Amino acid sequence: MGETIFSKIIRKEVPAEIVFENDKVLAFKDIRPQAPVHILIIPKITEIETTRDIDPNKHEALLGSLYEAANQIAKDVGVSETGFRLVVNCGPDAGQEVYHLHMHLLGGRKMNWPPG
Ligand code: AMP
Repeated sequence: MGETIFSKIIRKEVPAEIVFENDKVLAFKDIRPQAPVHILIIPKITEIETTRDIDPNKHEALLGSLYEAANQIAKDVGVSETGFRLVVNCGPDAGQEVYHLHMHLLGGRKMNWPPG
């Protein structure tokens, strides 16, 4: 349970363009970018497959770390002021492909609303 392509990226068994890493969080460029900036921000633990698995009692600090990383990366890649979008897909209708919680950080172009 919890073994995905992202687990292999965390263990550095599969290469990725890593842009941020600390003890709890890893972030790397999406392999199929949907915007000039498209970065995936993931927890290093594998037990959270979707948002449905988030337990506030257990994961509150981790969620804070994901958002802290997102804000730092947005600054580092130069979209903090122009704006960016954070997306978390959950389940089939949202088009979730990888069942390891991840936040998409998209930026560098004007985003549409509503999303497709
Ligand atoms: P989601 O549809 O929300 O589950 O998003 C999964 C994302 O992971 C997609 O945008 C994929 O392009 C991306 N992805 C899948 N495999 C890799 C990989 N090896 N390296 C980087 N991004 C990947």
